[in-house]
Amino acid sequence: MDRAVFSRLDGSGPAAYGPNMRKLLLTAWLLLALAAAGTAVEMTALPWTGDARAASMVYHGNQRSYIFHRPGCRYYNCKNCVVEFTSRQQALAAGFRPCKICKP
Ligand SMILES: [Zn+2]
Repeated sequence: MDRAVFSRLDGSGPAAYGPNMRKLLLTAWLLLALAAAGTAVEMTALPWTGDARAASMVYHGNQRSYIFHRPGCRYYNCKNCVVEFTSRQQALAAGFRPCKICKP
């Protein structure tokens, strides 16, 4: 009886393993994609000595709440997000806090 239950639980092992494996594969794929994108940025940024990369990352700071967002955040283009920063350090130095949603 106990053994039967155990083997049934054991049998459910691979099913529980499935999503984890899929997540692992997805992570691996993402890392590969990021590495490929990184190489592409490196290559396209070369002629402009890194300007292209700096321009692609502009943070928006909210002039009222003093919270800054990175591109892609749903608050990135809010009406008070009119302060622009080209780096996270710049925003922090200006007294802005990173957004808790996009975590810039
Ligand atoms: Zn944000």
